[in-house]
Amino acid sequence: MGRRVIPNGQVCGYCGNTIDKHNATREHVIPRCLFPPDYRHTPIVIWACRTCNTTKAALDDYFRDTLITELGTDASHVPAWVMANFENSDSRNQSRVGRFARATGRLEPAFTVEGDFRGMGLAYEGEPERLLESSEFIARGLYFDKYKRVLPLNHQIHAGLLTPEAFLERVAFLGRYGVKS
Ligand SMILES: [Zn+2]
Repeated sequence: MGRRVIPNGQVCGYCGNTIDKHNATREHVIPRCLFPPDYRHTPIVIWACRTCNTTKAALDDYFRDTLITELGTDASHVPAWVMANFENSDSRNQSRVGRFARATGRLEPAFTVEGDFRGMGLAYEGEPERLLESSEFIARGLYFDKYKRVLPLNHQIHAGLLTPEAFLERVAFLGRYGVKS
């Protein structure tokens, strides 16, 4: 693979600082650890400074481990692959989620977003600020990739769980503004 030329005046897609050959990185907006190698065909990659890249990379595993322990696995091989990586990391005591779950976990009834009982689940103390930081990086990266400008740092990003109905409503709402899903 040849080295990519950094465009003149290129800025970091996350913080907006100008980057040069000393601190430029190619950054995978959606953490690569969420997908097996055969699912990485259309990665969203942006220019980012090394500081942002390193900060985000340190959050990626926590994001992965929380997602997979919240959502569990189904018949698809993608979550099974992610779960295997979480378990592997946890067996080496390298998962913050695993450590917190062991230290503070207790069994509690779990419900779907629609309110249906889906069995007993392990409830543990999470670190929502880490997830918010991950989500903000991803939202900023997606915005930068689509609009080719940095989302102003004083803009707040709201993230939350949507029911399928609320999701469809949201898509219809955004559709009126020309945002394609
Ligand atoms: Zn940056």
